[in-house]
Amino acid sequence: MSSKGSTDLYSAFVTSGPGSFIASRVGLPQPPTLRRYSASQPPLSGPVLVGGDGRLVEPLREILGAEGSGYDLISNNTTGRSADKLGAVVFDATGIKDSAGLAALYEFFAPVIRSTGNSARFVVVGTTPELAAKPDEQIAQRALEGFTRSLGKELRNGATAQLVYVSPKAKTGLSGVESTVRFLLSGRSAYVDAQVIRIGDADAQAPEDWDKPLAGKVAVVTGAARGIGATIAEVLARDGAHVIAADIPAAGEALSETANKINGTALPLDVTADDAGAKLAEHVTERHGGVDIIVNNAGITRDKLLANMDDARWNAVIGVNLIAPQRLVDELVARDALRKGGAVIDVSSIAGIAGNRGQTNYGTSKAGVIGLVDAYAPILAKKGVTINAVAPGFIETAMTAAIPLATREVGRRMNSLQQGGQTIDVAETVAYFASPASNAVSGNVVRVCGQSLLGA
Ligand code: NAD
Repeated sequence: MSSKGSTDLYSAFVTSGPGSFIASRVGLPQPPTLRRYSASQPPLSGPVLVGGDGRLVEPLREILGAEGSGYDLISNNTTGRSADKLGAVVFDATGIKDSAGLAALYEFFAPVIRSTGNSARFVVVGTTPELAAKPDEQIAQRALEGFTRSLGKELRNGATAQLVYVSPKAKTGLSGVESTVRFLLSGRSAYVDAQVIRIGDADAQAPEDWDKPLAGKVAVVTGAARGIGATIAEVLARDGAHVIAADIPAAGEALSETANKINGTALPLDVTADDAGAKLAEHVTERHGGVDIIVNNAGITRDKLLANMDDARWNAVIGVNLIAPQRLVDELVARDALRKGGAVIDVSSIAGIAGNRGQTNYGTSKAGVIGLVDAYAPILAKKGVTINAVAPGFIETAMTAAIPLATREVGRRMNSLQQGGQTIDVAETVAYFASPASNAVSGNVVRVCGQSLLGA
């Protein structure tokens, strides 16, 4: 998968033989090589240990232990398997009903933490705190967040820790949970660290092939000529979707290049044009009878300190990053072009969570995108459509390559994985949200930032 971005020369150096020797001698950060998804490789580097004694542990074992699941499951009893380096550790914490019960977390994780391999996965599964039956349970379930985020900061060698909250009303078959568990227990989530994902109670249908979950779907990706958008288009196509790659008319050749590579369609479209929504709805309706997935990725920056801000910069950023994503969805819905079972995915930023000097316009727009997800999740749910956002941290692209070296190095290293992410990492998260198997996942914002210290 191509990423037309910059390369991290420092990482290349310290992971080389002599570089690694020097780095460990002088105490420099040594970013691990992250294990990423490949259809021909097993999802994890080793077996998965599942423990805990809540309502979800048996269904989880069934999912991961099913024949052909791709996982090598071991239960609490690891006798005879101690030579294996674990690929993942999953703990069902839904059985924890009060704060004293939280001790089960360290009792389970502490003994196995050093027995895990490269890019291991740690997943805690809990009950959505606001929906817990009693105050004591709500408190204990909320506490899981602090455990998971702290664990993320202790892990090394590309390992990550995540928390998944499952609605207490979810059916025991857990079909709505499987896509999330599979995403987290694979290289698709390589740069997603210390995130909290909330899953509702809807049932989901597993795809015929987990390597092609988007087969038969039609997707639109805005800003697809280059950078993150180009990779999102490639990944959605890899997962089986027909992709309409949209970008400003001036993007010309780069846009055709993206579309040709994936056997998709190039659609010149300025998302801020008055007729953008109408044009898009018309295109998808005429050619495909509608659209299943829309990814609002087109985005711009026009940085200035607030004291020097001008109308043009402010309006351009709010217009492309915030007003256009809302209007496009409104128009598609109004014209009945967004099909039931569909997914809207917006691209926010950690600047919308943490704020960023010189980016009051950008930070406003990207926080607004989170508001859009919050406000539209219940509205779109009535139409059987989900809406979620990814919030990338430091991603290696032309945009970040333009940042002055010293600032760039700080941005790149200030996270638990000690490196910048790749465009593929954002794209994989988008594809997870886009999957029809993720229809119980809506209203979430997942940061793709390696647990960046910014806004944490
Ligand atoms: P990029 O500048 O490389 O690509 C953005 C694309 O959007 C370009 O092809 C551009 O032509 C297109 N675009 C701009 N205005 C448009 C319009 N009016 N209509 C249609 N297309 C338009 O940027 P990128 O780094 O790939 O960023 C993609 C998204 O990710 C943006 O929303 C950005 O804010 C967000 N993001 C990026 C990073 C990062 O580290 N690169 C971090 C956080 C968030």
